[in-house]
This record gives sequence, C-alpha cells and structure tokens, in this order.
Amino acid sequence: MTHVYLSSHVKQIYFFQILPMSRILLFLLPFLSSPLFAQEPSKESLKPCGTLGVSDWLRDYRFRSPVFDRSEDTLWVALQPHLMGKDSGTGRITYEKFLNSFCQLNEDFAASNIQFYFKNEWDLLNETDWYAHSTIPKGIEMMLTNNVPDALNTYFVADPAGNCGYNLPYGGVAIGHNCAGAGSHTWSHEVGHALSLPHPFIGWEGKTYSFNVPTPATLTYDYTYFHDTLETQVPAPLDTALVELINGSNCAQAADLICDSKPDFLSYRWDCDVQNLSTTKQKDPLGAEFFSDGTLFMSYALDHCQSRFSPEEIGIMRATLLTEKANWVAPAMLEQAINEQPVAIEPIQDQIVPDSGALFTWKSVPNAKRYLVQASRFANFSFKQIDVITTDTFLTAGLLTPSLKYYWRIRPFNDWHTCAPFGELSTFHTASLSESSEPDADGFRYYPSLLSVGMPLMLELPDAWLDHVVQCSVFDAAGRLMWQSNVGLLSSKSSLEIPSIHWPSGIYRLLLSSVPGVKWGTLLVKR
Ligand SMILES: [Zn+2]
Repeated sequence: MTHVYLSSHVKQIYFFQILPMSRILLFLLPFLSSPLFAQEPSKESLKPCGTLGVSDWLRDYRFRSPVFDRSEDTLWVALQPHLMGKDSGTGRITYEKFLNSFCQLNEDFAASNIQFYFKNEWDLLNETDWYAHSTIPKGIEMMLTNNVPDALNTYFVADPAGNCGYNLPYGGVAIGHNCAGAGSHTWSHEVGHALSLPHPFIGWEGKTYSFNVPTPATLTYDYTYFHDTLETQVPAPLDTALVELINGSNCAQAADLICDSKPDFLSYRWDCDVQNLSTTKQKDPLGAEFFSDGTLFMSYALDHCQSRFSPEEIGIMRATLLTEKANWVAPAMLEQAINEQPVAIEPIQDQIVPDSGALFTWKSVPNAKRYLVQASRFANFSFKQIDVITTDTFLTAGLLTPSLKYYWRIRPFNDWHTCAPFGELSTFHTASLSESSEPDADGFRYYPSLLSVGMPLMLELPDAWLDHVVQCSVFDAAGRLMWQSNVGLLSSKSSLEIPSIHWPSGIYRLLLSSVPGVKWGTLLVKR
C-alpha cells in the first residue's frame, strides 16, 4: 500500500483487499446506483474544462535538446483512480462506466503509443465535500490529501467545480461523472493537459469570439490555480497569449505554442460540420478567415467531432513522459490483453437457485485478473441487484428477491486492459421465499421475513427472555443503524412495530440483545 493518509477523512479502500477474502459477497446497490437518486449536474450544465495556462516546461520545450524517443515504443503510464462517493457511500461512478471510461482513454491514446494502467487498487473515497466541490481550492485539498506518488492521479466526482473536468499541474485530473463513459473524450482532454498540452484557443477561455469585432493580437488570462506548482501560485496573475495567425508565422510563439494545431478561438462547446470543422467562421488578427478543427481532443468541439491529438501534440506528450513525468512510466506491460469471452458455468438456462446464498461460477478467462459480475431482473441491466468485482471465478450471492427471473453476466479485466466486453447473458430463477422459518433450538423465531410497509414483525421468544428489557436494532446492508428501541416483552409471542416506511427496498439485519443472549435474523423490506 502506498496510499498517503494526510487527513481524518474516512477512506474505504476495500475493493481489492476485502473481496478476495470474502466468501459471502454481496453489494446490494440497487438504490445506490439508480439514476432516480442521482443528483449530478448534467454535461450541458457544466463548462467543458476548467484548465488554463501554459506550463513552464512547454515554454522551454523547443529550446531544449530533443529527447531520444522511439515513437513506436508504447509508453505505459501509471494512473491512480480515486472514485468519489458521498459521505453515505452512495453516488459513486458505476464500475461498468468506469471500465468503459478507461477503455476509451486508452483507445484515444492508442495512436500516440501512450497507454495507461492502474497503479494500485481503485481508491473508493467517501466525502460529500469533494464529491461535489464548487471551487478549485476544494479540489486542490482533495488531491493533495489523497494523491499517490509516481502516478497520474484521477478523481471521478459528480461536480468538479462546475466543469466537465480540469487538470491541476501539481495535483491531478478531476472528471465529472456525466462527462465520462464510452464516447466521451473529456478524460483524454484532461490527460492531454496533464501531459503539457494547452487549449488550441488558449487566451479565449471565458471570452466570446465575435466575427464583427477586430481580433486582438494578444489576450490576457488569469491562471491563478494552474501554475506548475502550488508554490508559484499567486493571486490573480494575468498572463498574455499571442493570438495565432492562420499563415503560421507566429505559431511557435502564439496560443498553445504548437504549430500543427491551427488557430481556434472557440472557448465554448461547439458542434462541427461533416468535415469536423466549426460552422462559426473566424478571422485572425490580420483578417484571414478560417474555421476551427474539431478533430482535436484539446478543442471544445463536441465528443463526436473529436478523434485525435496532432503529431506535434503527441511529440510533446511523449517528451513530457520521457522527462519530467518519467516517474509515471513503467518499463514494460505486465498484464496481457484479454481476448476470450467469459463463459458462465452456473446458474444457466433458467436454473432455479435459492433466494439466499446462490452460487455463481464461471470459467477462468486467460489474462483476466478480476471480473465484474452483474445480475439484474432486466435484460438491459438498467437496475442491478448484484454489481460486484471479484478476483475469484465464483460468487456467493446474499439475498435476492424470490420467485423472479434474473439475468446475469461477467466482464473480465485486469489492471492494464478494460476493453473486454461482457460475456453472453445467462438466466436463472429464484425459488420462492419461505415466509417464516422454523424456530431455532431456543424456540426463537420471527416472521414474516419479507416486510411490507406498515406490517408489524411477529416475535416468538424463549421463556428465558420474558420480563427482560430487549434491545431491538435494525441495520441496513451497509451496516448502518436504521432503528433501535428498548422494549419489555411480556408474552412469548409479541409484535414489533418497525418504522420501515421510509426505508429503501433491500435486506436488513435484525438484532435482538438482552440479558439471556443475542438473536439475529435477516429482514427483506419490499416497497
Ligand atoms: Zn481543457
């Protein structure tokens, strides 16, 4: 473990340590991952990017002797994911969307021969103030508290200070959940910043280009938080950018200092035509007219326009990795690609399984280190009853809803390759629930274990428990106390009013504690 703990914030890094040890695995996350409960800013309501500035490294780049770079060599770059949830542990990006995002990042960088791998296990943090942070300084705090050394740290949050994403040169990358996933290039754009690339339209951030106003020769911009180090950060400094000419005469000194990213003055999200050019015509300070190139990941063109970094941009990113970020680069790829489909062993073909403790098994997939296993009542998996990552080739489920058809599927991955798809769907049926269990050896039982709203719970207690105060507690699947009450039970058969009316559907633990002993059981609340 190389995580740095600098704060008292509660961290959960349970992903890789706990799962292999567990033999009963169940993350029942239906109400946690449901879009009904999402309160995340939409992509359209977020600015495309919060990053500004040109790094000192890039300013010096063309004056330094070139680095030795065999461009056919793949550079393997360590990346540390930090997946933020709220204090309650809810709201985190889904595992599936995160795997898709990482796959997209590596596809976007394939032409650069730059590929990313997970440095350590995913860091599952819970901190509402970071999950939706309204200011860059809050994001600085988040990063400086949780960053790991020798890796590109990336934070997935609901709201990165009102942007789809940003990069802090001394911190890391923050990405908004709604700007992630397959087909979204925000992560690639921000990693481009982390590897020294400015916007092609630098200087125009926060300004609106107008064709009817003469284009200035220079622009000033405030890059308070985006200096190379925290130490060089000073309040409200203004820097000046030369505005790039279409004839290329000042391309090495103007805007992003990169010549094969042509002039672009569009600092808002824009759509492109069939040639991936802007529909907004612009003119440079000499009056020469042009349209912006939407194929560049570093532009603000919509995702469907973007497809590339320019050759000069690629050279700058690779030179950054071979010099000031050499500590991010691994000497070799350690895990091979996954090319085989996962195959379910059981349950398959509508096999009946118990509603509790059902065993799922599948064949080991060559090169897979982990598996994402999902089960859902719906073939499109819009709502998932099981959403678990394991290193095993089996999984023992907890409680499922009885008497229902389910679909389940497996997606193999490792720390270097996350593009392998899910295997084919398998189906099973859960057996019906026995609503009351047999009394245990002491004569204790409770029913029904499937509670609907307003229904009291019946308790049958051993005689030794009568006339004692019994502490009754109910915990949710995450172990949080939902309700607790001390009751005196005077007869061997009593009813208990459990205030489950506002509780989400799911499994709960009932714990009864008294002088004669402790009893516990499982309750299922169904809305
Ligand atoms: Zn940007």
